[in-house]
Amino acid sequence: MAEKPQLVNTSPEDVETDECMSTYTHLYSPELLIDQVAFITGGGSGIGFRIAEVLMRHGCDTVIASRNLEKLTEAAKKLTSTTGRQCLPIAMDVRHPETISTALDEALKTFGRVDILINNAAGNFLCPATSLSFNAFKTVMEIDTMGTFNTSKVIYDKWFKDHGGSIVNISATLGYRGQALQVHAGSAKAANDAMTRHLAVEWGPCGVRVNTVAPGPISGTEGYRRLGGSHSESAGVFRSIPLQRAGNKTEIAHAVLFLASRASSYVTGAILVADGGAWLTSANDVERLLGFWSAEKRKDK
Ligand code: NAP
Repeated sequence: MAEKPQLVNTSPEDVETDECMSTYTHLYSPELLIDQVAFITGGGSGIGFRIAEVLMRHGCDTVIASRNLEKLTEAAKKLTSTTGRQCLPIAMDVRHPETISTALDEALKTFGRVDILINNAAGNFLCPATSLSFNAFKTVMEIDTMGTFNTSKVIYDKWFKDHGGSIVNISATLGYRGQALQVHAGSAKAANDAMTRHLAVEWGPCGVRVNTVAPGPISGTEGYRRLGGSHSESAGVFRSIPLQRAGNKTEIAHAVLFLASRASSYVTGAILVADGGAWLTSANDVERLLGFWSAEKRKDK
């Protein structure tokens, strides 16, 4: 049999933890977002943290906003000391529009503008539909879907309507094939994908672009841990992904940077899947995921 060719590793730098990268190679001009301001929900951890870092490395100041102020303050310190840009941590809950409104007032007082909104906050876990409580389904819809609408509407009404802006939602491919044990998050993200197109249509005339990045399995994240990423990796499941591996957080941040910036000035209503082709070919294996889910439940007891 012919030997497999040695593939060149084209993935950018990343670190598994919620730390900044010790080295970073710019693919775009370091001035791409110079003096712009990005408001990032869930920017204190995981993918949101790396999005904040990459945007800041392109000249942007950021607001990182979620529930846990202690975590955000720690993250903001790291982001500022690595990038030299300002990062304002603010406590808010995307389920409560009044907290978003107060957070936006504080952001505008500090920076005088907001140019980019990244709707990244979400909650997810594996659970078969029969074991999912009504309340758990509702909570995921409230955070992922209502949260995305609430934040977009507050920022549009108060600022983007008169100044334009760019919104990037962080979605998932779960609903494309009805991913096992994911009816809650798959349904919520499918609604967000529709919302991307609706808001792109309604807000385009005011100079607001609305787009989405849909990541596949991304290592070094809470999502990866909760959804059994390491288990899939060691079981060889990722061999079925066309690009043969999980993605890293910087790869998602680069997709976001493209859609958030003027590099995509004529793009709106688009959903950019950044998953190495995973959803096209990966098994939707109910039995394997049920096995992982019950093993995790036993550990929790
Ligand atoms: P993560 O670190 O847990 O990020 C979620 C963030 O949302 C946290 O920082 C959390 O901060 C914030 N959050 C949760 N509930 C909130 C609320 N009610 N109000 C405000 N903020 C809230 O997870 P992640 O894996 O990086 O996921 C980030 C995004 O990528 C999510 O949209 C997820 O669906 C998507 N995604 C991830 C993967 C993956 O493999 N990791 C794959 C596909 C899609 P607080 O606890 O401080 O509120």
